[in-house]
Amino acid sequence: MTGMFSSLWLSPPPNTAFLIQRCLDEALDRLDGKDGGRVFFRADDIAVPGKKFTRLMELFARRRVPLSLAVVPSRLTGKRWRSVQEPGRKLSSLWCWHQHGWRHINHETDGKKQEFGPGRSFSDIRNDITRGGDRLERLMEKDFYPVFTPPWNRCDRKTLEILMDLSYLAVSRSHGSKPAPPDGFPDIAVNVDLHTRKETDPRSGWNHLFAEIRQAVSSGCCGIMIHHQQMNDAAFAFLELLLRNLSGRKRLQLVNLKDLCDADRSGRSV
Ligand SMILES: [Zn+2]
Repeated sequence: MTGMFSSLWLSPPPNTAFLIQRCLDEALDRLDGKDGGRVFFRADDIAVPGKKFTRLMELFARRRVPLSLAVVPSRLTGKRWRSVQEPGRKLSSLWCWHQHGWRHINHETDGKKQEFGPGRSFSDIRNDITRGGDRLERLMEKDFYPVFTPPWNRCDRKTLEILMDLSYLAVSRSHGSKPAPPDGFPDIAVNVDLHTRKETDPRSGWNHLFAEIRQAVSSGCCGIMIHHQQMNDAAFAFLELLLRNLSGRKRLQLVNLKDLCDADRSGRSV
C-alpha cells in the first residue's frame, strides 16, 4: 500500500530524543499554574488484532502509560475482543475502551467525511449510536466506558445532543471542532495528530508536529491521537521516546479519558 505513512515518518531527524526533550522543556516553561498539565493518548480504529496493535499495547504496558482506545463496534467480535485485550490484560486500569462510531463509514454525499453528519436523520443516528454502544457493552462488559469518539473527529449538533441524552459522559473530537457541544457535555479534544498528517514535506511535518505538542502541553491538556495501522518503525521509535520522556516529568500527569471524565464530574483537576 503506498501513501500509508505520513511523510515525516519516512524521514525522521537523527536527534529525535533531544528534540522531544527541548520541546517538552519549552512547553512546561510556558505552562501556567502549579498543578501542571495532563496528557492523554487516544488510539483510533481499534477492533482488529494484529502485529502493530500488539506492539502498541506492549509499548504502553511496558511504560505503564494509560491509553484510551476508540473501538469500531461493527468490526468487533467476541474472538477479536479476547485477542485485543490480551496484550494489556494484566494492566486493565490503564485502558479506557470506548466507542468509535458504529461502522466507520461515510454517509455524506459532499463535503468532509462523516458517519454522523447533517446528511442523516435523527433516528438513523440514534439507532447507530445505540447499536454500537449495546454491542460494545455486550462484548466488553465492565471494560466498556461510555465516551464517544466520532469517526474523523466530526459529528453534527444533533449527534452531540443524542449522546448526552443517551447518558454518554463525553465526546472526544479535535481541538476547536464545531459545532460546540451542549452545555454540561464535555468535549475532551485531541490536539496532536501523530500519524494522519497531511504535510508532503517531512521538514514541515516535523516542525508542525513539535509546534502542536508544545502548544498542547502548555495549554494544560494535551491529547495525542494515534493510528497504529499507519505507524512504521520510525513512528514506534518516536512514540517510545515520547512516552519515556513524558513519564519522567513530575509536572505532567498521564491519564486516560475515564480519569478526565471522573475529574470533570467531580469538579476537580485530575
Ligand atoms: Zn477512525
